[in-house]
Amino acid sequence: MQKNILIVGAGFSGVVIARKLAECGHKIRIIDRRSHIAGNCYDARDQETNVMVHTYGPHIFHTDNKEVWDFVNQYSVMMPYINRVKATYKNRVFSLPINLHTINQFFNKTCSPDEAKALIASKGDSTIETPLTFEQQALKFVGKELYEAFFKGYTLKQWGMQPSELPASILKRLPVRFNYDDNYFNHKYQGMPQQGYTSMIENMVEHPNIQVELNVDFSDDDRGGYDHIFYSGPLDAFYHNKFGRLGYRTLDFDRFKYDGDYQGCAVMNYCDQDVPYTRITEHKYFSPWESHEKSVCYKEFSRNCEEGDIPYYPIRQMGEMTLLHKYLDLAEKEESITFIGRLGTYRYLDMDVTIAEALNTAKIYLQSLSNQDNKMPVFTVNVR
Ligand SMILES: Cc1cc2nc3c(=O)[nH]c(=O)nc-3n(C[C@H](O)[C@H](O)[C@H](O)COP(=O)(O)OP(=O)(O)OC[C@H]3O[C@@H](n4cnc5c(N)ncnc54)[C@H](O)[C@@H]3O)c2cc1C
Repeated sequence: MQKNILIVGAGFSGVVIARKLAECGHKIRIIDRRSHIAGNCYDARDQETNVMVHTYGPHIFHTDNKEVWDFVNQYSVMMPYINRVKATYKNRVFSLPINLHTINQFFNKTCSPDEAKALIASKGDSTIETPLTFEQQALKFVGKELYEAFFKGYTLKQWGMQPSELPASILKRLPVRFNYDDNYFNHKYQGMPQQGYTSMIENMVEHPNIQVELNVDFSDDDRGGYDHIFYSGPLDAFYHNKFGRLGYRTLDFDRFKYDGDYQGCAVMNYCDQDVPYTRITEHKYFSPWESHEKSVCYKEFSRNCEEGDIPYYPIRQMGEMTLLHKYLDLAEKEESITFIGRLGTYRYLDMDVTIAEALNTAKIYLQSLSNQDNKMPVFTVNVR
């Protein structure tokens, strides 16, 4: 039987579920409070330069998940794109992630892979047995010089916290490559949608069973009017922040134009503590198959999210987790609603994980319809 479904949020989470359920004959209404679809992945061409600009910060698609890769390829031509990040520190430019080139540049050496391994091992702080903090973990792995150059200032600026206040778990593996591989991601499939993410998501909602309404905020009156609601807005906002606001970092972008080529690469990190921004992104480099004389760049600043700011990165430290559990206790009592996506589940999610979770959520919902014993859960992932 056809179900009447409301989806709150036209980002990847909402739209992927909408598409899968629409294809099974259900009637979908998507609302978004913004004036555009695509959520934080929204991109649009700059009118003057025609450069495709990633409005809410640069987005690079990378995944090992073939199902997700095949899915996005149905809605866009994916163009080859490899992210190669550079870093400026003390007036010198280095290659990231730390690789053999970085090590040789930084220590002014010509090490082979084995020599570099020995060098880094000799730099690591062997007195730290069980690292408890991010700082200790980095010092143990790479030693003081590389830690101070590439982790300390950048992390402080990005998270607004000393690395000694962050958990060691952030740095799970040795963040160094002993070869010249400077591909920022390790994933098998990497690329960029030829016409941008907005166009890809427009193609996903192009279905007779999907109706999209923009500039529409979710209201409590919407509850009860549908067979099911999928909500990708912030979990705390759903409950009118009754216990307080969950902590996020937000970003400010100083957008500027340049007549020519500003920095010669897509992403330049700034690791010095006294440089207030974390990175500069030059957006024409995210579409290397296009050519543009003029350029559009973003200088990126990170700070704590205040009321009215766009929440970007969930902080998930101890205080936030205590608050989160209060909201989860409330949410888990709900009926006919599922919280989805990065805001609904208060987790940082890359696009591929977002899409994989959305595909899975749609499957679980369809199973719940075909088998009365399978109640649709409020969360389809572990959020605690
Ligand atoms: C700076 C930055 C860079 C990133 N770079 C990458 C990258 O390079 N690669 C990668 O894979 N991932 C990247 N990501 C992650 C990517 O942005 C997310 O995976 C993706 O946006 C999650 O989609 P979503 O639908 O869950 O959330 P969103 O895209 O945030 O969509 C949620 C939507 O819900 C709407 N909404 C919220 N509340 C309401 C309400 N009450 N009523 C109506 N509408 C509402 C919002 O307006 C929004 O449009 C990056 C994220 C950030 C912050």
